[in-house]
Amino acid sequence: MEAIRDWVLSTWRQLTLLAQAINPWDVIDILIVAYLVYRILTLMRKTSSGSVIKGIILLLAVAWLSYMFNLRVVSYLLDQVFAMGIIILIVLFQPEVRKLFEQVGSSKLRFLFRKNVKLEDIEAGIHAVVSATVAMAKSRTGAIIVFEREVGINDYAVTGIEIDAKITSDLIQSVFYRDSPLHDGALLIRDWRLLAASCMLPLSTNINLSRDLGMRHKAGIGISERSDALVVIVSEQSGTIAVAVDGMLKRHLAQDTFEKLLVNELMHKPVVGTKQKNTVKSKG
Ligand code: ATP
Ligand code: MG
Repeated sequence: MEAIRDWVLSTWRQLTLLAQAINPWDVIDILIVAYLVYRILTLMRKTSSGSVIKGIILLLAVAWLSYMFNLRVVSYLLDQVFAMGIIILIVLFQPEVRKLFEQVGSSKLRFLFRKNVKLEDIEAGIHAVVSATVAMAKSRTGAIIVFEREVGINDYAVTGIEIDAKITSDLIQSVFYRDSPLHDGALLIRDWRLLAASCMLPLSTNINLSRDLGMRHKAGIGISERSDALVVIVSEQSGTIAVAVDGMLKRHLAQDTFEKLLVNELMHKPVVGTKQKNTVKSKG
């Protein structure tokens, strides 16, 4: 009993000393490390980087063993690899590093230019996109529609033809109509207006994608890997509807599931303090 009390008291004393020794910079230090570990873990979960990180852990384990058992050649070679570590990591994680910089760069500025969009315009926009998508799926008309959110996608908008028009089902269908000069490439939506058509998107770099996915789907997944955009894809081949968000593709969506997904992803709660009634900060 006495021993337990002594142990509790001494642990408490040590904790108190430790707490006194911690300064605000240590807290910031710990928070930054925790944030980096969190980002690395989410990257591992979401992307093919998981296997790269497992490889790095394996290399570290081999390095440790080679130091323990004094394996000079292995140690020397691993030292060389680790000396170039940062460069190797940047090359391996190039898409993730790029996405991080793009997000930091554009999301901070985007909100300055974001317009307040009326709730009824958002509802009408979603309705128009759903109705056009369902009609195009029925007629097996291939389509790819990108909703810009916080991360700007101007780099891709400039590769197409500027439209700047109200979202209507007929206009979307005319864009993707087989004989239309604008049908090739993606239609981009910003602030609930049709921004540009016939845009070239970056292809996905994920090597684990299903082999039956062609260019249209890879382009849709590609832009969702590089930005927070939501992408709607209609397959010309199978007449099915798919949605890509954050590098993940949801395929074979039924109309009601598709509509609910758009509502969940693209409609925000009303911004507190906005003067205009029924106005929400546009998310798409
Ligand atoms: P589907 O199921 O409709 O056949 P898919 O995923 O099999 O689609 P493809 O058959 O290769 O894809 O579709 C080719 C079309 O995809 C092109 O005609 C073009 O409109 C579109 N596309 C291809 N690459 C891109 C790109 N980089 N950016 C935007 N659109 C693209
Ligand atoms: Mg195809």
